[in-house]
Amino acid sequence: MAFHAILPAGGSGSRFGAEWPKQYAMLHGKPVLQHALDRLQAQFALERLYVVLAADDELFDAMIRGAPNVTALRCGGATRGASVHNALARLAHLDANDWIVVHDAVRPCIDADSSLRLQRALAADAVGGLLALPVTDTLKRVDDDGRVVRTESRDGLWRAQTPQMFRCGVLRRAFAAPAPEAWTDEAHAVEALGVAPRAVRGHAFNVKITFPDDLALAAAILTAMAAPG
Ligand code: C5P
Repeated sequence: MAFHAILPAGGSGSRFGAEWPKQYAMLHGKPVLQHALDRLQAQFALERLYVVLAADDELFDAMIRGAPNVTALRCGGATRGASVHNALARLAHLDANDWIVVHDAVRPCIDADSSLRLQRALAADAVGGLLALPVTDTLKRVDDDGRVVRTESRDGLWRAQTPQMFRCGVLRRAFAAPAPEAWTDEAHAVEALGVAPRAVRGHAFNVKITFPDDLALAAAILTAMAAPG
């Protein structure tokens, strides 16, 4: 069976607060989205990689170096879930057993070891799974006034990352449910089918760019990843 990837890149980056969406912010000399795309291509044997863009995106063609197997889909929706849903609707030709790897365009530091662990752990899996990390900080529930209401248990809690990798048929069924725009990741949609995605340990370096400070963190991580030893 083949591997295909979806890179949701249709966000406006309102929390990032810059003129440009955060996927086009420059990092070590190239856009964040280019890092994510290049790393995914190097880490998975992809037949095709679909980048989901907002309909009015003018930056992709100007800033991103594609490849023969890269297709831009200008079908971004109002939420990440809607963008993935719209992309899946255009991939009806794919085999139900094929793998679909979904990776945030704003995770530029995905490491090869984590991607390999994910593929090895899921090789014989009928459903799929995701990279994630156990929560290590103490968790506080805080009210609207900034006061701590209580301490929550962190037992068994993991933080979801991407890549997330699912059988195409499973993902199609999951996103066919009502209100696909509400899913914040693919595993969430699959859980709602009553099946359990496998959580595979990721790496702390695989940060998501949300706020401007995250860009400095990602730059430091890329430097550390490139350092010998
Ligand atoms: O906004 P958030 O950090 O959750 O975005 C995660 C990924 O989903 C980003 O790569 C972003 O471009 C993408 N996204 C999208 N369509 C949206 C919102 C976010 O493809 N409407």
